[in-house]
Amino acid sequence: MMRDINHFIGGRTVVGASGRFGNVFDPNTGEVQARVQLASLDELDAAIANAAEAQNGWAATNPQRRARVMFEFKRLLEAHMEELAHLLSSEHGKVIADSRGDIMRGLEVIEFACGIPHLLKGEHSQGAGPGIDVYSARQALGVVAGVTPFNFPAMIPMWMFGPAIACGNGFILKPSERDPSVPVRLAELMIEAGAPPGILNVVHGDKDIVEAILKHPTIKAVSFVGSSDIAQSVYALGALHGKRVQAMGGAKNHGIVLPDADMDQTVADLMGAAYGSAGERCMALPVVVPVGEETAERLRDKLLPAIEALLVGVSTDPDAHYGPVVSAAHKTRIEGYIQTGVDEGAELVVDGRGFELQGYEKGFFLSPTLFDHVTPQMKAYQEEIFGPVLQIVRAANFEEALALPSQHQYGNGVAIFTRNGDAAREFADRVEVGMVGINVPIPVPVAYHSFGGWKRSGFGDLNQYGLDGVRFYTRTKTVTQRWPRNIGGAVSDQSFVIPTMR
Ligand code: NAD
Repeated sequence: MMRDINHFIGGRTVVGASGRFGNVFDPNTGEVQARVQLASLDELDAAIANAAEAQNGWAATNPQRRARVMFEFKRLLEAHMEELAHLLSSEHGKVIADSRGDIMRGLEVIEFACGIPHLLKGEHSQGAGPGIDVYSARQALGVVAGVTPFNFPAMIPMWMFGPAIACGNGFILKPSERDPSVPVRLAELMIEAGAPPGILNVVHGDKDIVEAILKHPTIKAVSFVGSSDIAQSVYALGALHGKRVQAMGGAKNHGIVLPDADMDQTVADLMGAAYGSAGERCMALPVVVPVGEETAERLRDKLLPAIEALLVGVSTDPDAHYGPVVSAAHKTRIEGYIQTGVDEGAELVVDGRGFELQGYEKGFFLSPTLFDHVTPQMKAYQEEIFGPVLQIVRAANFEEALALPSQHQYGNGVAIFTRNGDAAREFADRVEVGMVGINVPIPVPVAYHSFGGWKRSGFGDLNQYGLDGVRFYTRTKTVTQRWPRNIGGAVSDQSFVIPTMR
């Protein structure tokens, strides 16, 4: 009997009634392991109504109490780390150690959200005019929603619902239908931590439910993370329906290698950043740009044995560097891009296609692929592959290397490897990319900064988590108050002129 993954609404499991399901695979074996319910519009309505009811009281709870729930949720996450990591790997395919990292990066945002009393403090100006004081306060929006991708089923939901709930909002989470179990467990733990039932609901679904969320009059803001075309349409549809929207998209991050870089360290960093999680990270480094032919040759010579030493295995294998990709369709798509690279004339140095893991022949495995002599005109360079494929694009000099990520359609992350502080500083200053690493291959900002790419990697004004997260999930109310000394005394003159502070 097939296991069903249900919705979580109003603090309890809700068996869907739509009769529509999606398949959830085990990427290691290639078999369907469960069915996920796809919600009907009535089920979405019910979840939103629950969230709206719970939110009134929650927003009125003082922020210190809300922080205590966050502290308890953090404790529960730690207590359930192994269970969550195994569940995550079983549906996503990433290795267990990487799943722990996925949960930890979310947990760090929860730790940040524990500081919500301080984060929500407003501004105050005393004596802005005669007897006049001005203060501003940050108030919760109401019911907000998050739509998340398959590749970080713990971290990205927590980027969103951590700050949102701490700020006093009710939350509807529509996770990826490919690995939906961890988001449900997170919601269960949040209620166990003391959040009122209904404050965090998980509604599974596909495009139809996302569109319904974007049009629903009760939803005040939508946070989206996924691929760029969908991010852009989510941004446009949400804005049309009067919502605040932040929509993070795809990526094609470059790693620039200057001639003076520590080449051993750079290659070690590139292995993890290009091939870790089978390249299915929006902050992966699938493009490496050596500056100068001599650097390119040295880099290539060191990359080859390092790639040779990579171990692809099932997600529970503690020795495996990475596991299978998420689905058969995604594997086919990646193989298609490898063929495109070949057809466009790039040099296929290592071909990861056709790899079979003994005993897991139907699993969605790909061994590492390396291309050299990739050029900016190639489609395989311009588009996001999101797989274990590393492309070398050779640059003649610093300016050429700087121009590559700057002119690319995506602008999520970039890294530069060098010992030259001047060059690194100039690069960080001029590059047209949102997140920059200097000798840091995956520069995902810590929880108290914020995460966001430029160009087609991010639509909207505010980034994820950090202070931007608090700003996104609140609106500012500014109160101007006047307490004249002579109340009950002489009435001041009527004025038909806009008040000024003169
Ligand atoms: P995806 O765009 O296919 O799906 C993301 C979410 O959108 C899912 O919940 C999905 O159900 C929903 N969705 C699918 N089709 C839709 C449609 N037509 N309209 C509205 N919603 C729809 O992305 P994915 O394959 O799950 O994730 C991988 C992508 O996410 C990559 O492009 C990756 O770079 C990107 N990503 C970006 C970031 C970032 O912060 N910039 C982080 C992680 C992943």
